[in-house]
Amino acid sequence: MDIVETRASVARHRPDGRSTPSGAPSGTPSPAAPLPAFTPELAAEMAPLYARVQHVVTPMEWPHYAPLIKAINDLKKMRNAVILAHNYMTPEIFHCVGDFRGDSLQLAKEAARTKADVIVQAGVHFMAETSKLMNPDKTVLIPDLEAGCSLAASITADDVRLLREAYPGVPIVTYVNTSAAVKAECDICCTSSNAVKVVESLGAPRVLLIPDEYLAKYVQTQTSIEIIAWKGRCEVHERFTAKDIEEIRAADPGTKIIAHPECPPEVLDVADFTGSTSAMINWVKTNHPKKVALITECSMASNVAVETPDVEFIRPCNLCPHMKRISLENIYEALRDMRHEVTIDATVAEKARRAVERMVNLTN
Ligand code: SF4
Repeated sequence: MDIVETRASVARHRPDGRSTPSGAPSGTPSPAAPLPAFTPELAAEMAPLYARVQHVVTPMEWPHYAPLIKAINDLKKMRNAVILAHNYMTPEIFHCVGDFRGDSLQLAKEAARTKADVIVQAGVHFMAETSKLMNPDKTVLIPDLEAGCSLAASITADDVRLLREAYPGVPIVTYVNTSAAVKAECDICCTSSNAVKVVESLGAPRVLLIPDEYLAKYVQTQTSIEIIAWKGRCEVHERFTAKDIEEIRAADPGTKIIAHPECPPEVLDVADFTGSTSAMINWVKTNHPKKVALITECSMASNVAVETPDVEFIRPCNLCPHMKRISLENIYEALRDMRHEVTIDATVAEKARRAVERMVNLTN
């Protein structure tokens, strides 16, 4: 398996991997909806929501969260908005204001089925772009424009054009964790759950799979097609080591180890199961292990724990600093002030949408 890196534009591209910065408010006036106080009446009204997250949100935290959750849920009705909450969001976002929950593709597909006028992406910028690609007529907001991704930032559209020149005739598959501008230069998109299927659908002996080196290496173990990788990494998953896994197993050999394919190969080699975030969640719900370690971003264990209280989660935690830029506060501000709207150049959007739709049609 080759690993290439043309580095056409390391100095040029934005550190957060965004293709189209946008922060212009939509012009919709702000509703004058001040935050409510945490009164006994509000506490009673919000009690069913607290019951859902009480295993992972402390009684001291709740009086701070509850007024924001109430205000956000009221604003959603006022704006005819939905919130897409990625699996890596903190539980008060994921379980208390998220209308759709899951990985980036699940979220964008769900949003396309709604009659909502506004989508708030509780996730990072490339996810908001994917939502916009699949919902071109809806207003897509991201609460923090700096919510980027190390994978998306590792490659630019110019890099992909150089790869085309270097590997003429070799199809290019892009992981969904890229900007719309990068997707526009690629043949088809993939997620960590369908990457093998997408690669094998192309009928080519060699395929470029960008930008995650470790996902590409994992796919190479699952297929006879030659994979050419890019040297991009997820800064959260690359930090896990085989030693981390050894220590978990040494503490309790019965603990099941479930890893995301963005982890280094040495970690995947010793895991009990490797899969996308959705596949990891399904594995836990189906197998009900007594003890499990999810080798991925911290918040996912908290979110799955809410739905599987009988499972004990060991937390070898790595936080994603980009995901953690999204908070109840900036979701509230996004809906109150209709900011920050995500826009994509029409030509780029048309080409990028083709790559995403090709994957969706294949996996449907
Ligand atoms: S967890 Fe990794 S891949 Fe996901 S947004 Fe953070 S840096 Fe990007």
